[in-house]
Amino acid sequence: MADVKSLLAQFEEISKNPQKLVKEYVEAGEKVIACFPIYTPQPLVTAAGMVPMGIWGGQCNPQLAGKYSPIFTCSLLRSCLEFGMTGVYKDVSAVVMPIICDTFRGMNSAWRAGVPDIRSITFIYPQNRKDPGARDFLIEELKAVREALEDISGNTVTNEKLQTAIRLYNRKNAAMRAFCRTANDHLDLVKPADRHHVMKAVTFLKPERAVEMVSELTAALNAEPVHRFAGKKVVLTGITCEPDDILGYFDQCGVAVVGDDLAQESRQYRTDYPSANSGMESLALHWFGVKGCSSAHDDNNTARGDMLAAMAKEAGADCVVLCMMRFCEIEEYDQPSVITQLEKAGLMSFSIDIDQSTSDSGQALTKIQAYAEN
Ligand code: SF4
Repeated sequence: MADVKSLLAQFEEISKNPQKLVKEYVEAGEKVIACFPIYTPQPLVTAAGMVPMGIWGGQCNPQLAGKYSPIFTCSLLRSCLEFGMTGVYKDVSAVVMPIICDTFRGMNSAWRAGVPDIRSITFIYPQNRKDPGARDFLIEELKAVREALEDISGNTVTNEKLQTAIRLYNRKNAAMRAFCRTANDHLDLVKPADRHHVMKAVTFLKPERAVEMVSELTAALNAEPVHRFAGKKVVLTGITCEPDDILGYFDQCGVAVVGDDLAQESRQYRTDYPSANSGMESLALHWFGVKGCSSAHDDNNTARGDMLAAMAKEAGADCVVLCMMRFCEIEEYDQPSVITQLEKAGLMSFSIDIDQSTSDSGQALTKIQAYAEN
């Protein structure tokens, strides 16, 4: 069995070089479908015989994206558009775009205008999750996605293929959750950036490979003695916590990350696809099972704060860090109620700005230092 260090190095390499992986897939004759965040129905892509890869933008100073997206667009979508317009995603066969917020509505048109060579498959997640018609509406939306993927791949997505893919994704969810639990017993080996590299690399890997690699890492960690971490512990919430510099600041200040509610990380893995009459129904019902997420409306506005408080207490953290993607209105909307619930639970919180268009994260360092020295 490979050692923890070399396994972590493999995840870091993948997380930092997704283009290398795309090239390998394409050279092997496979079609890659880029999946915008979050809750893209990836089992449909797998069942269609193609490779789903997450796209999460990246640090860049957009020069072309401004033609179609205003400056107050979140930096994640702006950088995705910039990468689309500058050929970074040229090898992908299509992008799938779930309309989960107002910014995506504009991005749908911006993508079609700015990146006409890469087909965009869009669908809407209904924000009224209580209306009995919402489930049927979503199934119809997902059928349109399925049709487009069948068209691109030339393969039919049967119910059997889809159910097999769904089981595989639920195994992947379980493997990710097991890794997160185990990592907390080895905070000497799994630093905040290492944890992030594992989570990010998995968004680029085929699901079966992800299960294999993450399970091997978890087994290697379990073979190590449990480490009693004496420093401060935090839980992260938000869309992403990048660039790596920020995660490096936590380590530099002796602070461990012991849990997350990031869209790029654990949010994707905490809700399984439920059993249902058909694969399409299971995909739709998944959306109605999502809890405590800014992109899925909940009438109970204390749900996310309460969930974070429970998560922090269970992991022994005394603070939740709100990683606030600049111009992400749904995250901004949640912030006051999250902070209130955390205060009620006797926990600390602070927010740091996440902006992919600047490499200056000095403000985050100051806040993390202040927390660490408190
Ligand atoms: S949810 Fe926030 S970060 Fe994600 S696309 Fe919408 S505005 Fe951008």
